[in-house]
Amino acid sequence: MSGCIFCRIAAGEIPAEVVKRGDGMLAFTDVNPQAPIHLLIIPTMHIGSLNDAKDVKVLGEMLGFARELAQEKGIATRGYRVVVNTNPDGGQTVFHLHLHLLGGRPMQWPPPDPLSAIAERGDVGLSFAVLHS
Ligand code: 5GP
Ligand code: ZN
Repeated sequence: MSGCIFCRIAAGEIPAEVVKRGDGMLAFTDVNPQAPIHLLIIPTMHIGSLNDAKDVKVLGEMLGFARELAQEKGIATRGYRVVVNTNPDGGQTVFHLHLHLLGGRPMQWPPPDPLSAIAERGDVGLSFAVLHS
């Protein structure tokens, strides 16, 4: 799909740090990493989201690819996280199906709710003070 960033990465039109190529699949580093290892795994053919994956076989292949990468990156034993954000409530921002493979640090569960995380950091008070200064 011409306007899709990940299709353009798959086509080599936008540079990315590619770490592994597979059969109809590609892994590259996330431009804004959330962990020491943060890779994105995409099918090279455009699929908008998990909801749009008609052939479920591709999902298994992507997971298998993520598992291989975790082994190759040396994070399989300590552990890692695979995430598929889906649509706006799921936090999806790029609408080309992808797995996030995160590792190299301990992960927390559940993921913090952004509003309570801000409140805990005290930023709410700070913005209140700025707004009223
Ligand atoms: P989502 O929020 O859709 O689950 O994840 C999209 C991810 O793609 C984000 O983590 C974001 O940092 C990453 N990303 C967005 N644009 C680019 C890009 O042009 N190159 C790379 N390598 N990653 C990108
Ligand atoms: Zn695409």
